[in-house]
Amino acid sequence: MQVKLLHDLVEEMAGVGAGRIVEILFGKKDVNEFLIAKKMELTINQVRNILYKLSADGLVSFIRKKDKRKGWYIYYWTLKTEECLVKLEGSLLKKIEDLNAVLNSRETKRFYICKSCDIETTEERALEHGFTCEECAEVYELSDNSGPIRETKSKITRREKELKLIDGELKTIREKTAKRRARADKKEAKETAARKELMKKARAAARAKLKKAAGDTVKKVAKKIKKTKKVVRSARSTLAAARAKKIKAVKKKIKPIKKKVVRKVKSVRKKMAKRVKKVKKMVKPKRKSLSSKIKKFIKKKG
Ligand SMILES: [Zn+2]
Repeated sequence: MQVKLLHDLVEEMAGVGAGRIVEILFGKKDVNEFLIAKKMELTINQVRNILYKLSADGLVSFIRKKDKRKGWYIYYWTLKTEECLVKLEGSLLKKIEDLNAVLNSRETKRFYICKSCDIETTEERALEHGFTCEECAEVYELSDNSGPIRETKSKITRREKELKLIDGELKTIREKTAKRRARADKKEAKETAARKELMKKARAAARAKLKKAAGDTVKKVAKKIKKTKKVVRSARSTLAAARAKKIKAVKKKIKPIKKKVVRKVKSVRKKMAKRVKKVKKMVKPKRKSLSSKIKKFIKKKG
């Protein structure tokens, strides 16, 4: 039913005979234009003309691929089912609207008919011509509206059935599209989350690396400081040893001089002491002891 409706739509859009293209494209994707021409028993240019018309109305889409052997482009066509159905929906709504207008006028207005010419006309037009036929001057008869009313009503019912069918089909397609989109969105969200997670991990790894590098640098610097301290310490001890050696050498050199000086000082002191003794002796009055005084007295007396 749907294919039949689409067939009619394409005939409406692209001309009689074009509708067969729907049967060839329906439910397929990227159909080679030469295959379409073969199946339709038309030339490639005739087929392209039909397809270009449908393409202008957005009912078909194409991709093109370069033929590797022949070097020219081949077009591959796909029927855009949803767009076709939307177009069909619009067309049906317009038809129903027109039919309702017809029904309304049949229900509310009078029409006149010339039975010999089988030409029907509106009351206004019949009045203009004095209720006689424009062609044969026969007197118009009042037209029976019951037949056209019945016919129009049945047409409306048929179109409304078609519309219902198309709307149902559209709903299904749109639901499918929505589901597909939701799936795609979900997939994308998942991919985005995965990408974010990956970035997070990469950043953490970079941070850890940086931290480790910093730690290594600190360690290296500490090691260097330790080494430097050791060098300084060793230099200091070398210096101290050198100084001690020098002092020792100087002391050694000084020692005999010191001895000499000490000796000299001692001898000078000795000399001085002797001299002091002598001077003291000279200065000191001679004190005679009592015994010697007695001895002297005895000597004198005796
Ligand atoms: Zn007539």
